Amino acid sequence: MRVLAAEDRIEPGMIEPYAIATVRNVMATMWRRDDREVRNRHRVFDPTQPDDVENVLVASEEQLAINEALRRLTDRERQVLLAHEVSGAATQMLADEAGSTAGAVAAQLKRTRARLRVEYLLALDHIEPPTDRCRPVLLALSSADRRRQREVDAARHLLECDVCARLSEPLLDRGPVRDDVLHVTIGADPDIVSARRAARDLAAQAGFTGTDLTMLATAVSEVARNIVRFADNGDVTIELLERPRRGIRVVARDMGPGIADVEAALQDGYSTYSGLGLGLPGARRLMDEFNLVSEAGHGTTVSMTKWFDPKGSA
Ligand SMILES: [Zn+2]
Repeated sequence: MRVLAAEDRIEPGMIEPYAIATVRNVMATMWRRDDREVRNRHRVFDPTQPDDVENVLVASEEQLAINEALRRLTDRERQVLLAHEVSGAATQMLADEAGSTAGAVAAQLKRTRARLRVEYLLALDHIEPPTDRCRPVLLALSSADRRRQREVDAARHLLECDVCARLSEPLLDRGPVRDDVLHVTIGADPDIVSARRAARDLAAQAGFTGTDLTMLATAVSEVARNIVRFADNGDVTIELLERPRRGIRVVARDMGPGIADVEAALQDGYSTYSGLGLGLPGARRLMDEFNLVSEAGHGTTVSMTKWFDPKGSA
């Protein structure tokens, strides 16, 4: 199942070597787990052993590995990644600064993330790759770049190199390839900005421009704000559609108290938070399709879609 899940990420010639590496990894993991259970058995009854010590240690190890991995990026890579992920700069803004395009910045971010994953795994295991060929192979796996995997003959290398065989799994076993879906957890005001930015980024990559981009981002802000105000937490999923035609679908979910009178809530002027923002009626006006389902005590789901207009807008 793991090999099939990674099928989209690897070139066809690598299926068999990857399957062999995966089986070895699974066997090794099972052996380590059994071994650890045997060694730790007596501790189950040890009342002096706080059970989260191991978790705390693991968390700080991971933090150190992330710092080390960030340090290994170039200054430029680190700057752009942190500006985007931490400070929240949109790809379009970064592109304007660098005299580039949103698409090029997105591609660069994708390469940087792929490199960060490789360096993180190496730092976590405290290993340096044994050969000069390892990093190019690991990078080709991490970025799911099948052409590059062929160029560096990743298939042969996986069979010859234990380190790369072991790291191939966390690099490839990341679920299906979805560059076209963004997921934002909503819990506080800053998350509204994150959701807005995610929607802008994805829509800009899809070709949305001008007013369409602003309308979409504003609608996403409004549904995210609605979650923060009325439900405390929830999530927003933003998805690029290609069928029946290109568009952006936004689904906002929360497990809050629900809306008792949906019809009333969608009337203009209805607002229980004293006129801040456009609210749900505003979001509905800004999108092409809008659907709201709510159940008292069980939360609310808003689904809305904006279709791409190739003529663009002013
Ligand atoms: Zn290697």
